[in-house]
Amino acid sequence: MKVTIVGGGFGGVKTALELAKNKQNRVTLISDKDEFQFYPVLYATATGRSHLQSWVPLGTIFADKPNVDVVLDSVTNVNPTKKQLQAASGNTYEYEHLVLALGTVTTYFGIKGLDHYAFGIKSEAEIHKLKHHLFQQMNEQRTVDKHYVIVGGGPTGVELAATLGSYLKRLSKDYGLPNRKIRINLVEASPRLLPRMHPKTSERVKKRLEKLGVHVELDKKVESATANSLTISGVPLNSQTIIWTSGVANHPFYMANDKHFEFAKNGKIVVNQYMRTKDGIYVIGDNAATPFSGLAQTALYDAHFVGHNFKLRQAHKPLKKYHPRLQPVVIPLGEDWAAFEWHGIRVYGWIGALMHHAADALMYYDVLPLFRALSVWRSRGDYERDYFTPTPPR
Ligand SMILES: Cc1cc2nc3c(=O)[nH]c(=O)nc-3n(C[C@H](O)[C@H](O)[C@H](O)COP(=O)(O)OP(=O)(O)OC[C@H]3O[C@@H](n4cnc5c(N)ncnc54)[C@H](O)[C@@H]3O)c2cc1C
Repeated sequence: MKVTIVGGGFGGVKTALELAKNKQNRVTLISDKDEFQFYPVLYATATGRSHLQSWVPLGTIFADKPNVDVVLDSVTNVNPTKKQLQAASGNTYEYEHLVLALGTVTTYFGIKGLDHYAFGIKSEAEIHKLKHHLFQQMNEQRTVDKHYVIVGGGPTGVELAATLGSYLKRLSKDYGLPNRKIRINLVEASPRLLPRMHPKTSERVKKRLEKLGVHVELDKKVESATANSLTISGVPLNSQTIIWTSGVANHPFYMANDKHFEFAKNGKIVVNQYMRTKDGIYVIGDNAATPFSGLAQTALYDAHFVGHNFKLRQAHKPLKKYHPRLQPVVIPLGEDWAAFEWHGIRVYGWIGALMHHAADALMYYDVLPLFRALSVWRSRGDYERDYFTPTPPR
């Protein structure tokens, strides 16, 4: 069977690995980046931990899979009648079976100035840009910011808020700055942190962050941003470092090809019980309008499901129907504390942290061979010297 997959993230990579198990399958994986990104740990790399845990070359993942071809290109259009994809390079790719797993993009909800002045941590490039800014501030201007502002009290925002303060303290020491108070503000528009989780978890997480010295602001809306400030619910706040972790929107590819897709209210793609569109295209992971879409675990689950149905199809057996599955959620706040939630079970503290370490190990093992997964997992504890070498104070 010949399968073309677009997107080298959780859904796409896992589908390719599942299909590669059958040597008769021929898989083409088209992705616009040559690396696989472990989004759940990007906050750690953004705050000084090893980059090895956050991105792995696709070539490494598929090194021993001769029936998988990895193509570096950005897909722009699909023609289901001709069974063709067009890409930014100008190339056209024919397909037999197509799986789309393009992930999401950042949205600023039209808030003035944010697209220009806010930093992000959604990719290696965004993390590099943030670190370069901190380097310029601390090493060249010899100062720290009045406020380091994280916008968005979802999982990424709270995880980052828990580690940013200690990272900045370490950095300012490395750059030889006098000991100054570092102030971290976490701004969330809804009345509680982690609005998709249980209110008790929101409360525990807020207390934990406050214990770590984070200033949590709830029910506050960011209205605009400039190079030196942002306005939150009418009040200006002095800051040159605004980190946006708030909004994501479905990939613009679908709107650009809207006549081939049906959209749910949240902009995701409606799929049938086999995760297919009316044209027979598989859409999985963050792109699919399924109840638990938006999690790495769901993208992996979808990939298993699609891979399994390809196997059944080859064996001429009846296909399975998709049953959405609630996935466990773990939110680490520092090294030795995490909040865990699943089916009404809630665990906080160091036991939660153990569960978080185990969950990360399993996630690596989902896409990497055992020894490689263990070595990447072990690198999580390593601090790395930053991209930029401090110069001695003048
Ligand atoms: C900062 C952050 C932290 C997160 N933390 C967690 C967490 O702790 N736990 C959790 O379960 N989930 C977490 N998530 C969500 C999780 O990462 C996603 O749900 C998951 O990555 C979805 O998998 P996917 O395959 O649908 O998309 P992705 O993993 O995003 O993969 C999409 C792929 O498509 C590629 N691509 C995009 N456009 C094109 C194009 N035009 N042509 C070709 N390729 C293209 C991208 O480069 C990427 O490789 C986090 C997300 C972010 C952004």
